[in-house]
Amino acid sequence: MLFDLMPKWTSEEYEDLLTGCLSTFNRNLSLLEYSNYEEGFWLRHDVELDIDSALLTAEIECDLGIKASYFICFESPFIKCEDLANKLEVIKCFGHHLYCHLLDSPSREHKLKLFKNKYQIISEDYVTYHSPTTPVSELVNLKGAGDIYRGLVNKDVSYFSDSTGKWRWGNPLIDEKEFKTVQILTHPFWWSKGKLYNSKTFDPKEIIDFLPQLAKANYF
Ligand SMILES: [Zn+2]
Repeated sequence: MLFDLMPKWTSEEYEDLLTGCLSTFNRNLSLLEYSNYEEGFWLRHDVELDIDSALLTAEIECDLGIKASYFICFESPFIKCEDLANKLEVIKCFGHHLYCHLLDSPSREHKLKLFKNKYQIISEDYVTYHSPTTPVSELVNLKGAGDIYRGLVNKDVSYFSDSTGKWRWGNPLIDEKEFKTVQILTHPFWWSKGKLYNSKTFDPKEIIDFLPQLAKANYF
């Protein structure tokens, strides 16, 4: 039996989110500006469910003059496709930066090198981790992860995430922002409703193995 996963929001809602961010926050930050605790919002994407939805968000951002950081999970069974390299090229052409979203394991550095060799377009400077088993307080000590997770550990940035299709730590446009530096993590798949497809078919076992948080979020 296969399982249909429905994205929560449409690309029009994504455009509204970004327009709201541009008026709510001082400006759109680069990763470097974010790590220097400048005032504004840094837009991070972890991409593990669908690369085509990343193309969609990349274009919307480009139209609004926004630059984002895309962390691609090459180890995901849902990302693999023949023309992945071309799609990464398009995301880069929209003005965005590409990095790795890695599964947490002792071979992190080795895997990063392998993906860099295969996909020259990605940068090794920064990395995010998929459902890390390493405590976040220790992730900050890993190469490339410190600048991304430090503000979350020290609790001196405001953090919002649409993980599992919910604003679990508040909505960035509505809820209070305690700090002037803001990290907004979105997963492009959740914003692709209607535009690319209404739902996407997954093998439930595969998705529970890879995204156990969806099972916990009562998707099954
Ligand atoms: Zn992830």
